Amino acid sequence: MEPNLVLSTDPLEPLRQEIDDADRQLIQILARRFDAVRKVGSVKGQVADQPLLDSDRELRVQDSWSRDAEALGLSAPFARRVLKEILNHSRRMQEALIEKRGSAGRVIRCGYQGLPGSYSALASAHLLGHRSVTESRFTGYPSFQEVGKALLNGEIDYGLLPVENSIGGSIADVNRLICDHALHIVDEEIWQVEHVLAVPPGVKLGDLRSIRSHPAALTQCETFLASMEEVKREPWSDTAAAAMSLQEGPARDRRDTGAICSAEAATMYGLDILSRNLADRECNETRFVLLALQPEQPDPRLSCKTSLVFRVNHSEGSLVRALTVFADARVNLARIESRPLPDTPWEYLFFVDVEGHTGSPNLAAALRELRTCCTHLRLMGSYPSRTRKQDGHLDRPTFAAPEAPAEVAVCPMVLETAPAPAPAPRTDRARSVLHIGPVILGEGHFVLISGPCAVESRQQILDGAAMVRAAGATMLRGGAFKPRTSPHAFQGLGAAGLDYLETAGRQFEMPTVTEVLTIEDIPLVMAHADVLQVGARNMHNFALLKELGRIDKPVILKRGMSATVKEFLLAAEYLLAGGNLQVILCERGIRTFETSTRATLDVSSVPVLKRLTHLPIIVDPSHAAGDRELVVPLALAAAAAGADGLIVEAHPRPEEALCDQAQALNNDDLLKMVAGLRPIVAAQGRIW
Ligand code: PEP
Ligand code: MN
Repeated sequence: MEPNLVLSTDPLEPLRQEIDDADRQLIQILARRFDAVRKVGSVKGQVADQPLLDSDRELRVQDSWSRDAEALGLSAPFARRVLKEILNHSRRMQEALIEKRGSAGRVIRCGYQGLPGSYSALASAHLLGHRSVTESRFTGYPSFQEVGKALLNGEIDYGLLPVENSIGGSIADVNRLICDHALHIVDEEIWQVEHVLAVPPGVKLGDLRSIRSHPAALTQCETFLASMEEVKREPWSDTAAAAMSLQEGPARDRRDTGAICSAEAATMYGLDILSRNLADRECNETRFVLLALQPEQPDPRLSCKTSLVFRVNHSEGSLVRALTVFADARVNLARIESRPLPDTPWEYLFFVDVEGHTGSPNLAAALRELRTCCTHLRLMGSYPSRTRKQDGHLDRPTFAAPEAPAEVAVCPMVLETAPAPAPAPRTDRARSVLHIGPVILGEGHFVLISGPCAVESRQQILDGAAMVRAAGATMLRGGAFKPRTSPHAFQGLGAAGLDYLETAGRQFEMPTVTEVLTIEDIPLVMAHADVLQVGARNMHNFALLKELGRIDKPVILKRGMSATVKEFLLAAEYLLAGGNLQVILCERGIRTFETSTRATLDVSSVPVLKRLTHLPIIVDPSHAAGDRELVVPLALAAAAAGADGLIVEAHPRPEEALCDQAQALNNDDLLKMVAGLRPIVAAQGRIW
């Protein structure tokens, strides 16, 4: 009997050995598979115009796995799930081979919200693990805001934040953070959330009196929690913190409290796992975005997605028109949602993800078109797409030529960069329309903006407003901050001037226009005026333009005195690239060898600009002429050339004007000008 004892100690032993053997083989086979995947990746990487993803091949592999699995008595869905993981990993390996981002040798610092072991921490490590960097350092922060702050002050290079969950929907705070700080999305990660019930060692299901976790996790495990009668739910700051609290918390918690968290957090904080897959739905995925201060250009051979945020005029058909742009360009929408604008109740920002890379011709065309129907548009970024359709397909690969012209790569331009052939004339449908209070600029309307060069007193601007309104002006101008050639000349009334201008505008029901000279003045000027003007002297002030690109108010951009049309448009591009699409170009004369006029009005720039851009164009004949007698004929010429409006200086008592006296129209001049303009505008079939 004795010898048998040795063999029969554990009948499971040989069977377990069989399993261990199979596992070892499995790992070796996986390593072999990934080795082959890597070789395929290197070959693909050398072909510049081949998309990385072959969806049809992936589907064929899936089918054969299912068939083989069934033939061997395994479940086909199980086999597909395993394959999904393998394919995911394979794809990331190939991406890392061709991706030049996150260059080798760099140390990358990434922040996330939560503690080690949280889903955010796990997703960060997974996403950056595929980048070819020497080292990734991770820091957990207590809130989304803290992650944003760390990114802005340079403490970290990237922040990974959750934007939506397949059960709970979108995470508004994160979307707000991205918008408020104009952050760029440079990558995404889809994380399969698998909640477990973790308890201190020795605690049994029946001992539990309370279960703590992040509120979203508690909601996701509703059915399980409902089955645990008389167990309290304790909302906690995050899932990993709930787990940690059981390791470090008071002794009582260690006897009767559990946490819902990731399996990794349970292990990390020395807890036992009592139950797995607690969520009500089997599929529980969170989508994270990797945020950075600068945009990154992913390799266009990857299947990409582009995120953007836009706003449209509050008028009928505006949103439909914006969305039609994508359909017309055959660009697929992957997500759309809206967020209210707290400062303008019942108006919304729209967040859209589309398939494709900004460098792809379809999307570039769609975005160019989209600019004509939005008041605000910002590209948040193009990045490799990780979302999959139910059939296992990734979002349709939208392959783009890798060499997109640099100027259109980040934000497609108003300007066609190719010198020839000449761009086709833009149709009315493709032009921007601006709604400024009751005034419509563009779309067959003609707008007269008039008023004094400078606001000189309360009475002067009130008298001026009354005069220009009666003559037919629909908007009021008046400088409060004046950019004077001589430092000894009148510099404007500043804040008091803004106040008087606002009062006059209100009283005579005209939106107001005034110049802003510095970045610091923007908030003050915005608080008082409806349209901000950038003067000719500031057209090259790119820092000012960048800031104005972020605001939600129309901007009149005047052409610099020595700026070519292209430079003028590139200055406008600073505003547009920042997201502000409410840009009005203003031709005001350029400096030439001719000295008989203050500047030479470049009338030809009106049709030239119409050909090159969708933006409305107005003309300032006053600063071009510098002489009131010449203002009227120049104004008529500008209207005849197709300008969408005029901005003309007029003073109730020109002889008293403190600024640009020689060019200020009086009431009679103004009436004469309007009488000349009316038939021209009518002949063009435009509304005034
Ligand atoms: C103005 O409009 O008052 C002005 C200063 O114009 P510009 O910048 O075109 O010289
Ligand atoms: Mn002036």
